[in-house]
Amino acid sequence: MTSLSDPVSELAGVGPKRAQALRSLAIENVNDLLTYFPFRYEDLQAKDPTELTDQAKVTLKGTVAAAPVISRFGRRKTRLTFRLLLDEHTIIPVTFFNQPWLKDKLEVGKELAVYGRFDAKRQSLSGMKIIAGADGGGMGSIYPANKEVRQGTIQKLVESAFETYAPVIVDLIPEPLRDEYRLLHRREMIHDMHFPASDRAAQAARRTAKFEEFYLFEVRLQVVKQQDHTLHGQALTYDLPRLKDFIAALPYELTAAQKRVVNEICYDLKRPIHMNRLLQGDVGSGKTVVAAIAMYAAITAGAQAALMAPTEILAEQHANNLAKLFADFPVNVALLTGATKPAARKTLLPQIAKGTVNLIVGTHALIQPEVDYADLGLAVIDEQHRFGVNQRQALREKGQQPDVLAMTATPIPRTLAITAYGEMDVSVINELPAGRQPIKTSWIRSNQVDSTLREVKAELSSGSQAYVVTPLIEESEAVDMKNAEAIYERFKEQFEPTYRVGLLHGRMKNDEKNAVMDAFKNNEFQVLVATTVIEVGVDVPNATVMMIYDADHFGLAQLHQLRGRVGRGKKASACILIADPKNELAVERMTTMTSTNDGFVLSQKDLELRGPGDILGKKQSGVPDFKVGDPVADLNILSVAQQAAKETVASPNWADKDANLALAAFLSTTAHQNTTMD
Ligand code: ADP
Ligand code: MG
Repeated sequence: MTSLSDPVSELAGVGPKRAQALRSLAIENVNDLLTYFPFRYEDLQAKDPTELTDQAKVTLKGTVAAAPVISRFGRRKTRLTFRLLLDEHTIIPVTFFNQPWLKDKLEVGKELAVYGRFDAKRQSLSGMKIIAGADGGGMGSIYPANKEVRQGTIQKLVESAFETYAPVIVDLIPEPLRDEYRLLHRREMIHDMHFPASDRAAQAARRTAKFEEFYLFEVRLQVVKQQDHTLHGQALTYDLPRLKDFIAALPYELTAAQKRVVNEICYDLKRPIHMNRLLQGDVGSGKTVVAAIAMYAAITAGAQAALMAPTEILAEQHANNLAKLFADFPVNVALLTGATKPAARKTLLPQIAKGTVNLIVGTHALIQPEVDYADLGLAVIDEQHRFGVNQRQALREKGQQPDVLAMTATPIPRTLAITAYGEMDVSVINELPAGRQPIKTSWIRSNQVDSTLREVKAELSSGSQAYVVTPLIEESEAVDMKNAEAIYERFKEQFEPTYRVGLLHGRMKNDEKNAVMDAFKNNEFQVLVATTVIEVGVDVPNATVMMIYDADHFGLAQLHQLRGRVGRGKKASACILIADPKNELAVERMTTMTSTNDGFVLSQKDLELRGPGDILGKKQSGVPDFKVGDPVADLNILSVAQQAAKETVASPNWADKDANLALAAFLSTTAHQNTTMD
């Protein structure tokens, strides 16, 4: 039996080579092909039949001369034939496959134009679409093509796929929803996307296509969420008095927002459900201590907790901070990264497996198969947008399905969060600790650097420290290093011996990096010249100056992350952007940075300036690619589709697989698509 999940190789004219080529357009099965939509349409002009060559695609104008006849063949296939009177002398037969409903549009005497492929031998037309009114207009579909797959090939394949598979195209959107939102049937939508009779038809089809795409995506997310909630996670019955003691011993009072999210998390821990929660909070909002409290809760319940960070520097910093924080509490903190020496690793692994170590901090080394946990109750992922879906999944699958707390400062605008994090529950820290002073951001040209250095020195003389971020050369870490070294030499000349200058770049060994970071933290260096290795998470509250060279080469989100390295203490901080921007967009980025400190405002702006895929580079935006929908431009459709998907999955009907057969089957055959978030 034919089904839309058939591989394209089932189609006539698709051999292994062409199937391979189609894969370059992400077309593997018939559904992929039928939803490979044109990005624009060309107007078609009616042609004179005497000028036609064999197999030419044409629009012919005429009058319906005889009523259409429908014949059936095969299991569900139909052939509709009618005669089209072109002029006094010429009548040609026109055939449409598997579109029996066209019959209604073909009363005898009606004037119309038909777009199709001309067969010179039979002097007949194999119709592709009817163009209402005989004005001979109509639309030819233009597809994104590449070297391996030509425009004409795609057109031909789509036509033949539609002819063969139209009978098995079934609706995926439940009927009540389709009615409520005035959507087309799926078959009609696919037809009109490829072969619209008019602009309006194309637009209506596109609206349905977008809704369907968003809806299916959101249903999948909701299903994951529902599974999480029914999965029997461990109920972590933590020791409230001990938890309160720990919170009381912190060197500061938690902000109201921190208290609120701690409550949300603890409530989840206690329940026997599987927690999958995202903790969002701008840089410096104090997510780490929230994670520490949650991890301590898990530990007082007798379980282990793990914290995974994206870089060695950050993992090491977390391990040090947590060890200090838990110095007077029965918590054994261990650090496990790629840099952990084999001997240390050999002693550590059995301790993790036995449970004598109950707080494990590290990089993705934590999710290697050899790392076996005695009883992992809570897994925290810091800077989660830095990890791929597979790594996040691997941590979730360690031990007995631990509760998961994913943390991010990437201020994805709320609009995009809907798509990126729809399957998670979200907690938001929406305030900074009291007493923080806003960071003053200024933008200077590179010829103003020398005069600015005087101000930096004045700042250092009050006991503060400074970061200097060196130019970003995307292609090469080696060039980055050279740049960093050159600037390092310049700063040494300018600042030493009064102040000491340190250097940190990606090419250094992990031990060296950590030693430099520790020295900076201990104020042995007052100036740290660094590449973007310091971008995420680094926390040295005494640093109050951030200078960024070639700031116009960075995206807004990245600049905001870098700027977030200062302004972490009570002292006022400054961020100095050095840039000679070459275009208007870059100028706008600089002025945006100087006008706001709010990560959410910035991310919204970033979105406007660069589009969603680029917020942090495609890989990191966390926003999936859609074929027709644009989560920004089509936000209204997206929100409605999400709401509809929630209702679908929550409805008592949903569990009745028979009632949702088409949708359920569709979801299971295409589960690999779109759900990956990176
Ligand atoms: P981020 O959310 O960017 O990960 P951190 O957890 O690194 O932020 O916290 C930033 C700084 O704020 C740290 O130095 C931390 O000790 C401090 N901090 C966290 N919570 C509070 C609070 N409630 N009051 C004062 N300082 C706090
Ligand atoms: Mg952090």
